Amino acid sequence: MSTVGSNDSTHGFLSFARAEAPFRAFRDPQAQRDLVAEVFAGDGWEVPGLVKAMQEADDLFFDAVSQIRMPRWSSGRVALTGDAAHAPSFLTGQGSSLALVGAYVLAGDMSDFGAYERTIRPFVEANQNLVDVGDAELFPGTAEALAARNAALRSRETMPAETARPEHSALTLPEFS
Ligand SMILES: Cc1cc2nc3c(=O)[nH]c(=O)nc-3n(C[C@H](O)[C@H](O)[C@H](O)COP(=O)(O)OP(=O)(O)OC[C@H]3O[C@@H](n4cnc5c(N)ncnc54)[C@H](O)[C@@H]3O)c2cc1C
Repeated sequence: MSTVGSNDSTHGFLSFARAEAPFRAFRDPQAQRDLVAEVFAGDGWEVPGLVKAMQEADDLFFDAVSQIRMPRWSSGRVALTGDAAHAPSFLTGQGSSLALVGAYVLAGDMSDFGAYERTIRPFVEANQNLVDVGDAELFPGTAEALAARNAALRSRETMPAETARPEHSALTLPEFS
């Protein structure tokens, strides 16, 4: 909603769930603004100010949350890594970690793209499969689920969580000579 990198800027992030992605809005910036304003109309707290800033911003970014899942990550002399191969989305997090792990293993297996993929694909997929966990936390589907989510957030005493998800450390990095 404002210039990235300036010291006095504030960035807003408004997200909402729909059964289907709003495909018609993707090519129409005004339709994007109208849709977000419609979804958040009547909400309290600072939301009206956020929506107003969104309507006036000249750098609005609007997209559907999605993952990249490819049947294979290489062809001939070309290999993909990071988001291009397996973006996990913010519903799982870990995008930077997966990209770094992939880059490290790809660099070590540069002569064998198949080995690179075999090493990290199970780790990548285990993390991508956390998408429903993140979805349930960020977009509770019922009033009860929303109340439970908010109660859990309020009772959190440590940040980050004391017990990491096992999927986050499910890969031991290989040593390359
Ligand atoms: C708002 C937001 C918040 C995020 N928060 C987190 C977080 O908290 N934790 C986390 O782990 N992940 C987070 N992520 C995800 C994380 O940023 C990505 O998963 C990670 O950056 C992927 O790294 P990458 O190197 O694959 O791709 P990128 O970081 O996207 O790098 C790709 C680079 O390629 C360049 N490029 C593109 N096309 C070309 C071209 N034709 N020629 C030359 N260069 C090109 C781009 O300019 C870019 O610099 C977040 C992402 C977003 C958008």
